[in-house]
Amino acid sequence: MKFQLLPSTIDENGRASARQHLTCFIIDDLVAFDAGSLAMAATQIHRDQIRDIVLTHAHLDHIAGLPLFVDDLFAVLETPIRVHASPEVIEIIERDVFNWHVYPSFSELTNEFGPVLEYFPFSIGRSFNAGHLTITPSAVNHKVPTAGFVIDDGTTAIAITGDTAETNAFWPSISEIERLSAIFIECAFPDEMADLAAISHHLTPSSLKTELSKFTGRRCPIYLINLKPMYREQIAKEIASLEIADLSILEVGKVYEF
Ligand SMILES: [Zn+2]
Repeated sequence: MKFQLLPSTIDENGRASARQHLTCFIIDDLVAFDAGSLAMAATQIHRDQIRDIVLTHAHLDHIAGLPLFVDDLFAVLETPIRVHASPEVIEIIERDVFNWHVYPSFSELTNEFGPVLEYFPFSIGRSFNAGHLTITPSAVNHKVPTAGFVIDDGTTAIAITGDTAETNAFWPSISEIERLSAIFIECAFPDEMADLAAISHHLTPSSLKTELSKFTGRRCPIYLINLKPMYREQIAKEIASLEIADLSILEVGKVYEF
């Protein structure tokens, strides 16, 4: 399984930087998880191949690239973009984004081949397919309805929390997976911002440590995702002081193989 976090910022030399404002993971150049920077950072291969987009939740940093991606491909889509999301998230993006005020209602529009955007609602705990992947959503604890996922390609599996604060349902289900190859967990704020993390339902290094203690499965690499860019260095220092084996910050743009 090939796994990549798309960049969302550039440095002073015009190259991708580690600052991650927007979240979009690509698996095997085929399926996108969240669409924060999808339209902005997608390669031509991604534009040609990605037709399945799975959403954790409807916050802007996770969906900003979705309307632009559909817009970009509108005339050439021979099959629709399939958006897999919970019914609550679909309702939010239809009401608040694809409403003609913020952006066109692409689910009402067709090109010469037919529909360009279709929704596939999923239910927590019930597996579904997107591309070649089998995906099992579980509820996590964020300010709005949010799902984490176990993603299985038939050979290996990975788990992604999405945005979350302390959560219990996620850990027992992933601890049982024998072929789990990696865990991706958020850590948005440093410890000194624990109050804001609590209000906005995010983790800090200290609460992250508590969360990881709930995982009882086999050892595998653990990657931090969704760090607020302003606090990236501070979070990195605090994480290093935790001395948790197998834990590192996911590198933006790098292609990982599991
Ligand atoms: Zn969020």
